[in-house]
Amino acid sequence: MARIVMKFGGTSMAGTERILKVADLVRAQQLRGHEVAVVVSAMAGETDRLINFCREASWLYDPAEYDVVVASGEQVTSGLLAIALQALGAKARSWLGWQLPIRTVEAHAKARVDSIDADALIAEMQQGVIAVIPGFQGMSDDGRITTLGRGGSDTSAVAVAAAVKADRCDIYTDVDGVYTTDPRIVAKARKLRHVTYEEMLELASVGAKVLQTRSVGLAMKEGVRIQVLSSFIDDDAPAADSLPGTMIVSDDELEGMDMERQLITGIAHDKNEAKITLTRVPDKPGAVADIFGPLAQAAINVDMIIQNVGRDKGETDVTFTVPAADLARSLDLLEAAKEKIGFNRIIPDTNVAKISVVGVGMKSHAGVAAKMFKALAERGVNIIAISTSEIKVSVLIEEDYTELAVRVLHTAYGLDAVEA
Ligand code: ADP
Ligand code: ASP
Ligand code: MG
Repeated sequence: MARIVMKFGGTSMAGTERILKVADLVRAQQLRGHEVAVVVSAMAGETDRLINFCREASWLYDPAEYDVVVASGEQVTSGLLAIALQALGAKARSWLGWQLPIRTVEAHAKARVDSIDADALIAEMQQGVIAVIPGFQGMSDDGRITTLGRGGSDTSAVAVAAAVKADRCDIYTDVDGVYTTDPRIVAKARKLRHVTYEEMLELASVGAKVLQTRSVGLAMKEGVRIQVLSSFIDDDAPAADSLPGTMIVSDDELEGMDMERQLITGIAHDKNEAKITLTRVPDKPGAVADIFGPLAQAAINVDMIIQNVGRDKGETDVTFTVPAADLARSLDLLEAAKEKIGFNRIIPDTNVAKISVVGVGMKSHAGVAAKMFKALAERGVNIIAISTSEIKVSVLIEEDYTELAVRVLHTAYGLDAVEA
């Protein structure tokens, strides 16, 4: 017997027919004798729809009330799945984030899971009750509903798996594993049998949305075993000991498998970045701190930063990127600090994308970045900004070139699947 957390994403929960199929997969796992908890997303498109309502109500909405609105999508699907499971003869009940509770800290709309009281949950699971938990949502210190940021149901699932000490967290989605790049963009992308936590963390953080970044960080810290697999299968849920998807493993585990390691693991793209340029910022100590201080205080993540060479008269342009979802608030905060910072104009631009290559092999190999710049230059793709880490190189480009850039790099690093 194993204890398994099964997580189903938006496409897997998109409508009653899909939910009935999910109920079959979950019930099959229980009938094999396993204890099961399920974490579900809202129906595909629902969270976007709810966010739009908030924007229509006010462009600068209150994040706490936004959470009240957007958390409702998962409430619907968790109730529906519990009903579907009961119809199959299973004992099942839903547990909303505030009922367990799943306690969270930090900002609304991007809260972090702090702790989960799992005793009641474990007791019910041991009685054969399937716990259905809405992903994405939690409760703040002062008892308000919070959400964990886009894609946050993955993190809910890993947090629940850690809290109930599950043997594994199976993340069911609409692809059958983690690929060398988004298989919807590159038909020749290859499925990876294993990815290390470190590589998956980096891939997720630069836009491979198959897993939310925080879910991977949490799994790494808590030692949760994750498998990514497809819910779009004809037969029953795969037996607990068969692993058809991609396993996220530790570096040591992978070493032990004695497999050939690739220099580059994968390529990711992110269209959800926005570029902001402030022109004619005074070129003096403290100017940059005045720009980024208010953004940091508002928990807005600044990613790439370029300070252009100072022009005459001791002025310089500063360009940086923020998540597109935070653009309106960033512009607002910068306008408010205009006098203090002393810039001339703000130029926002959402027509950008970040393309990143990731691989642990980079630690010991030079030339990865040079190959990237050359491959893009040969296809006429202009690079606006660059950033690197130990196992990643990212470039910012014009959004229209995203697909082309990903394909070109996938080929350049020898990742294309060999046609059968
Ligand atoms: P869910 O609704 O199940 O959470 P998501 O849409 O969040 O699903 O994530 C799955 C999607 O991630 C896939 O449909 C795929 O287009 C995308 N994706 C991006 N990069 C990768 C990758 N490297 N491997 C697999 N899927 C990827
Ligand atoms: N429904 C939320 C979203 O779309 C959370 C999730 O699906 O993981 O971001
Ligand atoms: Mg997702």
